Amino acid sequence: ATPTALMVGTGRGAQLGILIKGPEVLESTRRVDTVVLDKTGTVTTGRMRLQEVHVVAGDTEEDVLRLAGALEHASEHPIAQAIAAGAQDRTGALPPVERFENVPGRGVRGHVQGHEVTVGRLLPDAPAVDGHPLPDGLARAKDAAEAEGRTAVVVTRDGVAVGVLTVADAIKETSAEAVRELRALGLRPVLLTGDNRAVAQAVARAVGIGSEDVIAEVLPQDKVAVVERLRREGRTVAMVGDGVNDAAALATADLGLAMGTGTDAAIEASDLTLVRGDLRVAADAIRLARRTLSTIK
Ligand code: ADP
Ligand code: MG
Repeated sequence: ATPTALMVGTGRGAQLGILIKGPEVLESTRRVDTVVLDKTGTVTTGRMRLQEVHVVAGDTEEDVLRLAGALEHASEHPIAQAIAAGAQDRTGALPPVERFENVPGRGVRGHVQGHEVTVGRLLPDAPAVDGHPLPDGLARAKDAAEAEGRTAVVVTRDGVAVGVLTVADAIKETSAEAVRELRALGLRPVLLTGDNRAVAQAVARAVGIGSEDVIAEVLPQDKVAVVERLRREGRTVAMVGDGVNDAAALATADLGLAMGTGTDAAIEASDLTLVRGDLRVAADAIRLARRTLSTIK
């Protein structure tokens, strides 16, 4: 590999909107056969909006939203920002939070107005809150929203479920085209997310990823294990993410690609940065690496 050709490749990358950490990165880019795509913030815009508010009898939407919004105001997660903004719009100023705690890939907890409040997902192996099953009305609302691709989170107050909030973000207009391009290059796209399986399947269907290539309900620390497993199966894995709960997986992949619109942690953990956050540029990067290195031979 002549240094000159690699430098030219790196320069061409910059023109395409690809920041390459070092010329040697092009070599691993060329060998990639599997592309793991993070859902939120990568395939979707990550700009979520609050959609529905469902509450149990005896509680008002305002009360539940105020508690949830106050708590989420302290978190940077895209879901949290949507809930905090929606709550502020509908209820006004949010009360303060004490003993705030972020549980990555799960949700948030803290004290608001003298109550212990949580907002987050129910784990598949623990579908209840503190031993109580989700009330029928909330369970139905949650299932219906997830079947349509919206993310549903449960609000609890003092250990009892009092509401379900749904949020949705748009799939990027370029994502389906990007998946087609990756396939045309002979790569296998895989969707990886901490979100619910039904939501993940709905997004995968919309962008053309097969249901067998959807890995959902994965906790942040387990995203690394998924990448490691694919590598043990003999695949050369690129991972594309925005850094929210996936920076470690980006660092573990043979090739980490950060969305330029993502966090600093993503950019630090990655070999390549897609400046505009357009997934099609991931395909450009692989094409560029193949071309650059074949002229070198
Ligand atoms: P993704 O893999 O799609 O980027 P994450 O791993 O960041 O998603 O989050 C996984 C799931 O955990 C979310 O879909 C949501 O159900 C729950 N969750 C995470 N953070 C929060 C939060 N701040 N508020 C509510 N729910 C959350
Ligand atoms: Mg994410």
